[in-house]
Amino acid sequence: MKNALTMVQEQLQQACTVMNLCEDVYEVLKLPQRCLQVSIPVKMDDGRTKTFVGYRSQHTDALGPCKGGIRFHPDVTQEEVMALSMWMTFKCGVVGLPYGGGKGGVVCDPRKLSQGELERLSRGYIRILARNLGADQDIPAPDVYTDSQIMAWMMDEYSKSRAGINQFGVITGKPIILGGSEGRDSATAQGCAFAIRDAARKLDIRLSQSTAVIQGFGNAGAHAARLLADWDVDILAASDSSGAVYSANGLNVEELIQHKDSTGSVKGFGGSEEISSDELLTLDCTILVPAALENQITEQNAADIKAAIIAEAANGPTTPEADSILYARDIVVIPDILANAGGVIVSYYEWVQNQMGYYWSAEEVHKKLRTAMHEAFNATWEMRELKGVPLRTAAYMVSLDRLHEALQLRSWI
Ligand code: GLU
Repeated sequence: MKNALTMVQEQLQQACTVMNLCEDVYEVLKLPQRCLQVSIPVKMDDGRTKTFVGYRSQHTDALGPCKGGIRFHPDVTQEEVMALSMWMTFKCGVVGLPYGGGKGGVVCDPRKLSQGELERLSRGYIRILARNLGADQDIPAPDVYTDSQIMAWMMDEYSKSRAGINQFGVITGKPIILGGSEGRDSATAQGCAFAIRDAARKLDIRLSQSTAVIQGFGNAGAHAARLLADWDVDILAASDSSGAVYSANGLNVEELIQHKDSTGSVKGFGGSEEISSDELLTLDCTILVPAALENQITEQNAADIKAAIIAEAANGPTTPEADSILYARDIVVIPDILANAGGVIVSYYEWVQNQMGYYWSAEEVHKKLRTAMHEAFNATWEMRELKGVPLRTAAYMVSLDRLHEALQLRSWI
């Protein structure tokens, strides 16, 4: 399996080379400024204490505080978290947010923890990292298997470390009643849907005559399926960690979401056929949305992919080797750092609203997100045309333009 850190370093190197940037830029950005490892002892329900390992990586604060989610997953590693924090930097850069990249992770299986254990783990993680976090320092958010309830516990715990004074701006993706923003929940998928629509327009593809396949039916995947279905895209298949379902006539997304809510999986959905996760990726469709984990589209399956557009709702789903194969086959890959930037864009709006203490309507957030995504998409597409490079390299170039200027002005290079 391709190491995520190697992947992001290769992508960065490629963009630096095309841009003819001096070696120093790569040297400064090739690793995070700081990556902390923490041990979190948690009192389990059976009375015993278990220690979990967690990480927080802060890639660069050249453009502003570090920003990025926290994932709870059994496969979390330090290198993965480092890579994810680097992707956050380039993501914030491509959409012009005043942030650098951060990412956190805890090695655990949250599905095997009780609510009480989950709360104690979430609080423990923040308690130990509190001195390294803050609204002007490093601002976490949800990621794989973390949600608004976990953000609420974390904000509460962090506030305790600041004499009990509410620190809403330390974390985003909170429940609306605790300083969360309208539209944050669906923001990753909404931004991804906007990017898909922009790409379809450029490629003369009519969404109402299109089909889509969704890998991963969590927050990003399920919301993306719903938004695409609203635009009359037929959702042919969807998967989660337990399996994949397919229907040639299209799945009823609302019913599938209900089925997943009540059974915990998309598996066994009425009227659908079960397929393997590998088959799902290579189904004949217009749009493929990888919305799960890294390393899904590789040199093993890239040649068999039939979609015209791949929209990366997940971080790092495509390896550099697969990228080359897809590029040679004229498949348009909307890269993660652009396709899933909607989440961090609305996180930024949440943080701004927290600083102001003044909150926007859902319409206001939606409009701002649409404009931000559209501008970032156009800037990336123009760069692609101008330089004759894949969209991913173009997105890095847009991002690196900003970072490079900041690094120069700060005399860090
Ligand atoms: N975890 C999300 C991502 O990978 C959101 C980060 C944020 O909102 O800060 O983009």
